[in-house]
Amino acid sequence: MLLVIMGAQGTGKGTVSGILCDELGIMQLSTGDIFRKNIKEKTRLGIEADKYISQGQLVPDEITVPMVAEALDSDEAKAGVILDGFPRTTEQAKQLDEMLKQRNKEIDMVINLISPREEIIDRMITRRVCPNCKATFNIKINKPKVEGICDKCGTKLTQREDDKSEEAINNRLEIYDTQTAPVLKYYEEKGIVQNEEITISKNRLADKAAKHIIEMLKDVEK
Ligand code: ADP
Ligand code: ZN
Repeated sequence: MLLVIMGAQGTGKGTVSGILCDELGIMQLSTGDIFRKNIKEKTRLGIEADKYISQGQLVPDEITVPMVAEALDSDEAKAGVILDGFPRTTEQAKQLDEMLKQRNKEIDMVINLISPREEIIDRMITRRVCPNCKATFNIKINKPKVEGICDKCGTKLTQREDDKSEEAINNRLEIYDTQTAPVLKYYEEKGIVQNEEITISKNRLADKAAKHIIEMLKDVEK
């Protein structure tokens, strides 16, 4: 199974992907998480990528695309993959098509999460992440059981550097509107997009969206 999850920052991609991975036994391939791991470990890739990420800019394709190809070929990816954070430009979407063609694979579904803009900015500011297992929490709407501690692995939660900076938040949303939204059009033309609303004020949360997607996927498999 190959899924792509899209939606602006703070719509709940990480949370929904996490649920889908647990339920479907597939791997979450998050380009942002791979970059952050490399930054933490100070690898060459990490040092290079951090120049862009700290500013909220996209990392160049020469770095990003081979990194995704390598992850797609890993053993963990064999059971299925949910791509989170890639593709982010139409050019990346075309490169992904090429990559999949070479591997005799295709995208089963593109999940598009939709949330009101005022909610997502708030959610980025209140987001906390586990640096160890990558689980995502929110100090307002998805609190960990023990304050500041990851439910899944007990590690101290942190705030992403690019969530601390208003400039980086605004840059990322702007890139989403100008460069990533067209990717959605690209997939809509192929007829593989499933829209899912996540609106806190309407009490439509990530778990509901995830449940609905799983139902839809059963139909796809049939
Ligand atoms: P967000 O969606 O909140 O920006 P991510 O964790 O998906 O967070 O990505 C963090 C940063 O990593 C992005 O702002 C960007 O700098 C970089 N990044 C992630 N995915 C890509 C990609 N497909 N192409 C280029 N840069 C990327
Ligand atoms: Zn954890």
